[in-house]
Amino acid sequence: MRLGIISALHEEQQGLVEAMERPYKLIHGMREYWTGKLWEIDAVAVLSRIGKVAAAMTATTLVEKFGVTHILFTGVAGSGDPSVRVGDIVVAESLVQHDMDASPLFPRFEVPLTGLRHFASDRQMALELSHAAQRFLEREFMDAIDAQERAAFALQAPRMHRGLVGSGDQFVSHRERIRALGEALPGLLAVEMEGAAVAQVCFELGIPFGVIRTISDNANENAATDFMRFVKSVAAQYAFHVVRQFCRQARVQASRVSAGT
Ligand code: SAH
Repeated sequence: MRLGIISALHEEQQGLVEAMERPYKLIHGMREYWTGKLWEIDAVAVLSRIGKVAAAMTATTLVEKFGVTHILFTGVAGSGDPSVRVGDIVVAESLVQHDMDASPLFPRFEVPLTGLRHFASDRQMALELSHAAQRFLEREFMDAIDAQERAAFALQAPRMHRGLVGSGDQFVSHRERIRALGEALPGLLAVEMEGAAVAQVCFELGIPFGVIRTISDNANENAATDFMRFVKSVAAQYAFHVVRQFCRQARVQASRVSAGT
């Protein structure tokens, strides 16, 4: 396994690069690709920057130039459902480009010529991510996040959810907009700006991928104010712990396979 790890924001990537063994930086297409070992997994960590095109470009480069075999996307997202709260984790089971609309030529949300509205993430990766997220929330969350920050964001007993994530080139910050998206896309748990683009690239190139998002805001009028502090003090910790646990699990899997058990 050679794992490509894409983060959308600098704060999320920083911790991973610091944890890397023998990190080596290569600049390509205005991005820094960090190759090295992360908890004994061969990894390439990169910042995608924001939006679908940026994410698609990054995912493609990871596969074509860096030869990654799997892609993991970590980031933050706005809540798409009242049951999904700030501080919760969403593991994507499928992803949709919520701003794709080539109707009446193709049904709304369908990506032309793929016949798909929803792109499914890799089942095994989603399962491993859910385990990693659950473990983080149960065992590490209290130590990893300062009491002051837990209080500031009213994080009490954050939960993990699995389901549909919507991506579009839009920071959703109006309650009517998020409500309309939720109505048009039943089961929508979170909105962000990259995941479904990575999903399409991985689908087309045949690369297993997973997307995990920490909920940073409620995609309403307060979204922007909450966002930056949350990313720095909370989301970066989440991403670090979940990726570490994911890599450790992958390591155990790999040694089981090589031992033939
Ligand atoms: N203020 C930030 C911009 C962040 S854009 C800056 O200056 O860097 C928001 C990022 O977080 C995107 O990568 C997106 O994937 C995710 N995100 C978080 N909340 C979101 C929301 N409500 N709508 C859309 N994307 C959101």
